[in-house]
Amino acid sequence: MADTLSPAQRSERMSLIRGKDTRPALVVRRMLHRLGYRFRLHRRDLPGKPDIVLPRHHAVIFVHGCFWHQHPDPACRLARQPKTRIDFWQAKFAANQSRDLRTISALEANGWRVLVVWQCELRDKEQLENKLREFLADR
Ligand SMILES: [Zn+2]
Repeated sequence: MADTLSPAQRSERMSLIRGKDTRPALVVRRMLHRLGYRFRLHRRDLPGKPDIVLPRHHAVIFVHGCFWHQHPDPACRLARQPKTRIDFWQAKFAANQSRDLRTISALEANGWRVLVVWQCELRDKEQLENKLREFLADR
């Protein structure tokens, strides 16, 4: 089999590189809002233009597509690498990953706390809510 992606998976993955307001980021934003947290979007003055910024908590949240950012969890099926054009994809993923690392260290060096929410974590809303609450607790 040359390619393991269904058309739906492919379009979901492609949409993640384009827009700022990807669906996963919207879901996390709505969840935060419901939990009563106040936040700002895409602060351009911050490294990596985080999806969600919570100034009061001095915290930022990235919502990462598992495919493009290569979610390191071996159980994550969305992060599976394509079977074709392997060199192309590996170079692309390596570039994305090192950019993510640089972004996170730059933010942390400026005193921001950083949370990455992975796209596949949106499936379990209760667990994700706990993760967000824990991250933002007592700040
Ligand atoms: Zn994942």
